[in-house]
Amino acid sequence: MMESLKTVYQKKLKDFQKRKNNELTILLYHGVTNSISKGIENHAGKHMEEKNFAKQMKYIRNKCSPISIDEYLFYCENETDLPPNPVVVSFDDGFKNNYSVAAPILDEFQIPAVFYISSGVVNTNMMFWVDVLEDCINLTKKPYINVYLNEKVEFFIDTYEQKIAALNSIKAYCKTRPYFDTKRVLEDIQVATGITPQVDHAENYKKITWDELKVMNDNSLFVIGGHSLYHNILSQLDANMLDKEIRSSLDLLEINLQTSIYHYSYPEGQKNHYNSSVINILKKYGVVCSPSAVPGLNPIDTDPFHLKRIMVGFSELPFPYLDTSL
Ligand SMILES: [Zn+2]
Repeated sequence: MMESLKTVYQKKLKDFQKRKNNELTILLYHGVTNSISKGIENHAGKHMEEKNFAKQMKYIRNKCSPISIDEYLFYCENETDLPPNPVVVSFDDGFKNNYSVAAPILDEFQIPAVFYISSGVVNTNMMFWVDVLEDCINLTKKPYINVYLNEKVEFFIDTYEQKIAALNSIKAYCKTRPYFDTKRVLEDIQVATGITPQVDHAENYKKITWDELKVMNDNSLFVIGGHSLYHNILSQLDANMLDKEIRSSLDLLEINLQTSIYHYSYPEGQKNHYNSSVINILKKYGVVCSPSAVPGLNPIDTDPFHLKRIMVGFSELPFPYLDTSL
């Protein structure tokens, strides 16, 4: 999965240099960090280093036209031209470092941003399943574990490289499976590694609080949107569960932030993770725009429920602009 996504991104990045001046780029970040990681924690760079993020925002401020997601919708509705080289900055999931590290930098460079939040994890000690896996494999002293995937697999996890290889294999398997099977794998791995995963094992696992989200929502630079309750893949839910998931995720944000929510993004966000049923229910509850994580750029007439994004932050997915040395 990661391998194919990487290939698609590399192809897209070649096209990126030839983009039209009025095509919209939406950058997709997850976290920005100023903590030093231990072992394999954040080895893939999901949480970008603070100084790199600052360089990127400075570049966007100086060389592009940073706009908010609402400004983009305004341009579409009114069929006016977008400013040259328009960029929307977006964040998925709802990590605490969005507030503590990213927001001050966005403020400094006056870059608008939209934060798509999995509202069920706000103010909790809950961990996303990928972080549970990483924490268990990172902290265990066991040299190998047996895990039942399609069949029983023995993973050697004695070295840094082995731990990363095991983590990537198990993650790839889980991404193809319904959540109940992922949950079963997570339970097996906690037993096999002897580790009880905890949010305070790494600064980057921590989730944003309602008070922090309120401060961000009060900042006119920022827009808050939904991203499911617990990061469940929307296309895998039956009709009733899907309706409930979307309604509850929006309700929770609206009640706690005392505001209406019009924005959303699909968890995981590849083509098979959302469909027309998902889009219809989002529209039913007042959502006007929901970008995917399908890599690419957006001509001005792109349907706001099929906007593409360019994921940045993983070491394999670099900042797409030409002058990467900045
Ligand atoms: Zn997400």
